[in-house]
Amino acid sequence: MCRHLAWLGEPRSLADLVLAPEHGLLRQSYQPRRQSHGLVNADGWGVGWHDPAHPDHPHPVRWRSAQPLWNAAAFAAVAPLLHAGSVVAAVRSATVGMPPDETAAAPFAGGPDGRWLVSHNGRVDRSVLPFRHDAESVCDSAVLAAHVLALGPDRLAATVIEVAAADPGARLSLLLGDGERVLAVSWGDPMAYLERPDGVVVASEPYDDDPRWVDVPDRHHLEVTPAGQVVVTPLDPAPPPTP
Ligand code: GLN
Repeated sequence: MCRHLAWLGEPRSLADLVLAPEHGLLRQSYQPRRQSHGLVNADGWGVGWHDPAHPDHPHPVRWRSAQPLWNAAAFAAVAPLLHAGSVVAAVRSATVGMPPDETAAAPFAGGPDGRWLVSHNGRVDRSVLPFRHDAESVCDSAVLAAHVLALGPDRLAATVIEVAAADPGARLSLLLGDGERVLAVSWGDPMAYLERPDGVVVASEPYDDDPRWVDVPDRHHLEVTPAGQVVVTPLDPAPPPTP
């Protein structure tokens, strides 16, 4: 995925999050502002969300497509009526050689309790990742998502550092959400967040010109806690303290 977004907070409509912002994912699908790899994101889109109104259905709901988001008339018609307090959404610019179908479009889903959504912005050499029969696609991002979830979201930082060591050319910016928290890593592609009174947006680029957007430095881990606090930590291992 070349542009993605996560929301954690009060329920907002999917239209308000994905389609309405002046420079949101819809606009970013044909005119991103901060994209250094690829020009447009027309190879598909996906939106995943957790619906607290249905506690008997703990798994996230997803709507994905291999079409450009600007063609998603059915989604645009319904999105104003779909509300969620936890969302991961993406528009895709497929890496050369990766499959073009909707199973390769983020967010991917899974994890120990099936509650996690994962979006990857970047590329990775699949040969450095273990084969996983539960990857949703042979797309590098799907294999990486399955790997990250198999090792556990709580060791996301360690997993990214290991994968980057095995493939130094990898770009590994990631967004994860399980309905309670958002976890993210900036590694090779940009990331920013916006704290609003009703929640936090984390995105590969600001969806508007609100001056409260904060850039996440490269190679950092970000967590939005269940209380809505944003914690940003450098990923490179800290040097040992000098005696
Ligand atoms: N490698 C992923 C894909 O092919 C994501 C690409 C991207 O971030 N542009 O879908």
